Amino acid sequence: MKNDDVMVNCPYCDSDDAKYWAEERGWKVVRCLHCRYLYVNPRPSLMMRNLATEFGTHASGGNLDISERRVGRKVALYRQALQTMFSDLWSSNRPVISWIDIGAGYGEMAEAVKSLAHPNSKVIGLEPMLPKVLAARAMGLEMISGYIDHNTPKCQFASAINIFSHIYDFDHFLCSVRDILEEGGDLLIETGDMSNVESREQLPGELGLPDHVAFASEEHLTGFLSRNGFKVISVQHIREDNLIYFMKNTLKRLVGRDVVLSLPFSSPYRSIRIRARKLPLMTSTCLDRESSKRT
Ligand SMILES: [Zn+2]
Repeated sequence: MKNDDVMVNCPYCDSDDAKYWAEERGWKVVRCLHCRYLYVNPRPSLMMRNLATEFGTHASGGNLDISERRVGRKVALYRQALQTMFSDLWSSNRPVISWIDIGAGYGEMAEAVKSLAHPNSKVIGLEPMLPKVLAARAMGLEMISGYIDHNTPKCQFASAINIFSHIYDFDHFLCSVRDILEEGGDLLIETGDMSNVESREQLPGELGLPDHVAFASEEHLTGFLSRNGFKVISVQHIREDNLIYFMKNTLKRLVGRDVVLSLPFSSPYRSIRIRARKLPLMTSTCLDRESSKRT
């Protein structure tokens, strides 16, 4: 354990009862014995995390490169998902909407929304890593550099695509999303679903430690949403272990990366997309949480 690593309780249920589940690059994932949540413990300090996010490499992960690159085919995939999950927005009398994609990366999701929405709509990407912001702006997208704060514009819709595993405190994140969503606004989340994954061997690909610090199941995601005042509207599951994924993993294995090889279409792992609506809070859950942290 390095000096600035931090031991944590289960980020979902606060239990400290957990057992070893997997290891990668010297970092360990444990499974909570109380609620089955999978999380990295110990994990890099928040300061180390923020440095990594801004500069695109993880110093505590053997300089794991997390900057990635723009992937054009994602636009078509997101477009397809949006067409089914938000069909009400693209009907013949498409309303003018406002949409913010949080952790927008190179702007693929923002591009997909823009291609479907009424042309007068406001579509914004929010991204902390500056090179990604600049690359997306060069593609003609409206991008804000940074994290959610009091300057972030309020929108009717928000999306958070594949950022769940990066977030240290998902309750806090959902409270911040509530602040920038208009009343009755919708949030789209996409991440991995570990519901049926028992062992590391069943999960294709790398875990991406310590850039990824948590792995949820559908039950955890809907639990997080409901305890922070969101109502689930629709859910989609997506198979990831197709032939292309298998070939990519084989190549990674050949260059010595820490991946598990298994036959295509054999893993119980899925991705999950959830559309959830912001409800008026019956109790001030978010405020309570903030004040209990201060005391
Ligand atoms: Zn737990």
